[in-house]
Amino acid sequence: MNLAGQQYCIFNEKLDKVTYENRISALRLTHDNYPAILARVQKFHHSHAVRATHNVNCDNSIGDYLVDCKNVLGFEVFGCENVKYVGSSKMAKDSMDMNGFGYYSDHMLESLGSGNSSQICFTACCEFCSEIYYSAWCLHPNHLFGCVGLKHAENAILNTAMSHQEYNELAPKIIDHMRSTGEWGEFFHPSISPFGYNETIGADDQPLDRTTVEKYGWRWYDIPKKERTGEYVVPLDTAEYNPEKVSTEIAAKNIDTLLAGVIQCEKTGEPFRILKEELRFYIKHDLPIPRKHPQARYNERITFMNRKQLRDATCAECHASIQTTYDPAVRRVLCEQCYRKLVY
Ligand SMILES: [Zn+2]
Repeated sequence: MNLAGQQYCIFNEKLDKVTYENRISALRLTHDNYPAILARVQKFHHSHAVRATHNVNCDNSIGDYLVDCKNVLGFEVFGCENVKYVGSSKMAKDSMDMNGFGYYSDHMLESLGSGNSSQICFTACCEFCSEIYYSAWCLHPNHLFGCVGLKHAENAILNTAMSHQEYNELAPKIIDHMRSTGEWGEFFHPSISPFGYNETIGADDQPLDRTTVEKYGWRWYDIPKKERTGEYVVPLDTAEYNPEKVSTEIAAKNIDTLLAGVIQCEKTGEPFRILKEELRFYIKHDLPIPRKHPQARYNERITFMNRKQLRDATCAECHASIQTTYDPAVRRVLCEQCYRKLVY
């Protein structure tokens, strides 16, 4: 960790090429040794300093996981310029309050999962659009207001097509009305979201209980328990599915049994299956067959990322003011200059 220009290192110990390759080939990940390896990696990481944010090649930008950005305030942003309050977006300019996608867009406001567009406001999942408002799931349209699921449409309000002149007369009247009711300028209300809050990535960053979600007037989705549709199987060691390590007949029999069976998540009890292509990947890389449901694995993975929340702190070395997504109480957080001195 915190090395630059190094190779053949294990836990920062520099090794010769042969020793490195021998140790790596001897390290076989299994369900038995995984907890100890993970604990050792985490302990090792926590014993080293971290840079305040994971931003690369950014100018005048605030946030985390920013790459090639200029004048940006956001998280997980790549190649954007002059954007504010933005998350998980790429190559957008002159926009704010947006999440997801982006891609060669400009002048987007309060848009979700939209991209390749110009001047779109309060939209969800729209692409290749210009001048559209309060619309969702539309492709290649111009001048839409309150439309859903249209392709190559022009001058439409509530999915009703009209002349450009009629559109220009009616749309401002609707906007005036929405201004009078306080609706104009806000994204679709969460109460009409097709998804419950607990299903969304919002819940990854800001977990809320059902009572709080419903107090806000947002939806909660009772995720139905999946019924088991086959016999439970317990995955064997990956070698048992590899015809190069056991006989072709045994490998084929074990593969058939696993793919036909159902695995019970050892953490949540949820049933799940292994797909053929997935199993091929585990065999190729000699990785242990999962025993946890995909959602349980996802929930564990996101704990390795910092939350999208900046906190004020001071550099552990020079005491300069910094903003970071790490908790300075548990990690030694450095400003960019001190981190560079340490690594380079
Ligand atoms: Zn410093």
